[in-house]
Amino acid sequence: MTMKMYRFRIYPSKAQEKQLGQHLWLAKNLWNDLLEHSKNTYRNFDKFPSRDALQLMSKDSGMYSQTSQEIAHRVENGIWRYVKLRKAGNRKAGFPRFRSIDRMRSLHYPQSGFWLGNELKVTPFAEIPIVQHRRIKGKIKTLTLKREASGKWFACFAVEETPVIKASNGKSRIGVDLGLKTLATLSNGSKISNPRHIRKHQDKIAFLQRVSDRKKKGSKNRKKAKRNVAIEFEKLKNTRKDFLHRLSHNLVNSYSFIALEDLASQELAEMNFGKQINDAGWGELANMLRYKAESAGCEVVFVNPEGTTKICCICENKMDMPLAVRGYDCPMCGNHMDRDLNAAYNILKRATAGSAGSNACGDGLHVRL
Ligand SMILES: [Zn+2]
Repeated sequence: MTMKMYRFRIYPSKAQEKQLGQHLWLAKNLWNDLLEHSKNTYRNFDKFPSRDALQLMSKDSGMYSQTSQEIAHRVENGIWRYVKLRKAGNRKAGFPRFRSIDRMRSLHYPQSGFWLGNELKVTPFAEIPIVQHRRIKGKIKTLTLKREASGKWFACFAVEETPVIKASNGKSRIGVDLGLKTLATLSNGSKISNPRHIRKHQDKIAFLQRVSDRKKKGSKNRKKAKRNVAIEFEKLKNTRKDFLHRLSHNLVNSYSFIALEDLASQELAEMNFGKQINDAGWGELANMLRYKAESAGCEVVFVNPEGTTKICCICENKMDMPLAVRGYDCPMCGNHMDRDLNAAYNILKRATAGSAGSNACGDGLHVRL
């Protein structure tokens, strides 16, 4: 079983839009109330409130019951994630934050309260027109109603699908190192960068951000400028999604085996790189590869990312590799290789270690050393 996301534009009426907005407002208030309560409880009793206590507080919020319950769970998870990171020694881990209405954008329906036919029926908003540009094939598990910064509304469905498994496509194996400068380095030596149009959006965001920073705080103009930044962000997100769709499609059709670092855990992302990882779209790419692989006759494997840049892929010597050092120069065996390429080999090696017929660097080793 795999989970797949479907995102459709919805067109609420003026009245529905107002009501949806009110519910985002309720969601924001509930989130902040629960957080406030958690902080107070900790201050007075030296412990955080239980899941039951938070859940009880979320009753009678005015929203659909499961929607408010889900907010209680998210507050609880946010707190526990914070506690866990702190315990692991991460000083920078942040406690969940109070939200303004601009930061509360979605309403979640974890199980029920909605029904999808030609229109979308959602409690308590009744029928909302929806444009379904793809047919949903599996079983719908959850619904998220989302208001983007542009004011457009979307319905996102998480759908459980039974993948059609194809025999291996018989192509070669590859290790992939994901980076910030170069999006992906393959163990056969090719490098994939973010295309120019993505960088153009990034530049424009930086520019609009500066414009917005120059406006007076709290002024109408500043609000307008901020909205422009948000709209540009939305464009960037869509462009990147298109690009990642094409890239993942090409990869699963060009290789029979793809090894990647397991960067899925949010904790790891926060500990090592801060926010940048999320912006780079790695999680999105990994997810796309995962769900596209099987029907393309490709296998995607995730390996432990620890030390992949520090270890020599030839002799397994280990040394420090500060981010600024772009080449791996091994003092033990003389291996002289691009930093990311060395990592890509290690990733492939780790994924194929012990498997029948695996050679040290997999099929990718036809690159000049
Ligand atoms: Zn070496």
